[in-house]
Amino acid sequence: MTRGRFAPSPTGRMHLGNVFCALLSWLSAKSQGGEWVLRIEDLDPQRSRKEYALQLMDDLQWLGLPWDGEPVWQSQRGHIYEEYLRRLTEMGLTYPCHCTRADIMATQAPHETDGRVVYKGTCRPRAIDAIGAIDSIGSIGSIDSVIRTAPATTLPPTVPLSQGNEEQRSGGGMYPHRSPLTVTPATTRLIVPDCTIPFTDGHYGKHDINLAEHCGDYIVRRKDGAWAYQLAVVVDDALMGITEIVRGRDLLLSSPQQIHLRELLFFERKTENGTDAGSESRSKIYFDYAEQQGGKDREAGLKRKNNSLTAHHSPLTVNFFHHPLLCNAEGQRLCKRDKSMDLGYLRDKGTTAREIIGLLAHLAGLTDTPAHITPTELLTLFSWDKVPTEDIMLDKQIML
Ligand SMILES: [Zn+2]
Repeated sequence: MTRGRFAPSPTGRMHLGNVFCALLSWLSAKSQGGEWVLRIEDLDPQRSRKEYALQLMDDLQWLGLPWDGEPVWQSQRGHIYEEYLRRLTEMGLTYPCHCTRADIMATQAPHETDGRVVYKGTCRPRAIDAIGAIDSIGSIGSIDSVIRTAPATTLPPTVPLSQGNEEQRSGGGMYPHRSPLTVTPATTRLIVPDCTIPFTDGHYGKHDINLAEHCGDYIVRRKDGAWAYQLAVVVDDALMGITEIVRGRDLLLSSPQQIHLRELLFFERKTENGTDAGSESRSKIYFDYAEQQGGKDREAGLKRKNNSLTAHHSPLTVNFFHHPLLCNAEGQRLCKRDKSMDLGYLRDKGTTAREIIGLLAHLAGLTDTPAHITPTELLTLFSWDKVPTEDIMLDKQIML
């Protein structure tokens, strides 16, 4: 069964762009007879507020977009993210990075002008650089030993007493015997393979992304101890049994990072007798990965024959559908500054839920006019084929 989700950050009142995302996500899941669950992404203790989350739930109910089951709060799941970070560390795939933003910007090539920041691996332990040379090594034994000799250098970040979760404040975590006060705060990064990750978005089609070129080794835990978006999202989507992710196209190119991380953490590895092949074999995952993806490391991967390992996805594979963004009159994506587009303003001035849903359904190509309608009435009209791929300018003439 399809299981979709809406995963807002409670950092302010929902605006029409957020509602557009919630509506499409709800329609996509519900039109298939599926479930739709709510996850509150309140990882940032500085910006997230419980009252915003409660207001958001009230707004969803008011709009006619009810969710299934109990909402999941990311702020309560630090112990789960800790466990999955530990697994990555055991695989030898993480390391501490002490670079400042200025350090990283100084390594960017002049042509990288699309706003992306590509981490060049400045702090990557030298032994692990050998992973990038898999082709020249060409056998499992060699690369295993390379990975095993890599230092286990991931240290817990120090966390000011006023921040972080309970485990961090009590000095627990991965290295409870070390006092956080003696450790320099560091970002924790995940080593990414230099191979292509193909994925197909349900709305924007096929993409081939090389993670090393696209983003480089990316952050799984921030310097201040907060969990990085990518790690939390991947762990939660997998553990919550999410099968369909609908979100704005600004997150389209996060998908290959998430697919990669999902495969590292949730690719079950079974031997012929059905037992887990164990953590030792997990460091071979880049071979399997390269082999399966047919990427740059394919030849090295194909050299490995006669293995008794089979792999399958668990939990189910996720389908991605990204949607166009709603833009203001200046052509910029709607944000919290666009006060006339937020639900507080609209509800206060008497705009009805049916008016808002009617406008958004029309902008999504589901109806010929912005006539008032409810989400339930839209179920039979919904199809991704009708939704445009270009971003949508909110025309002042049809503003609410
Ligand atoms: Zn660094």
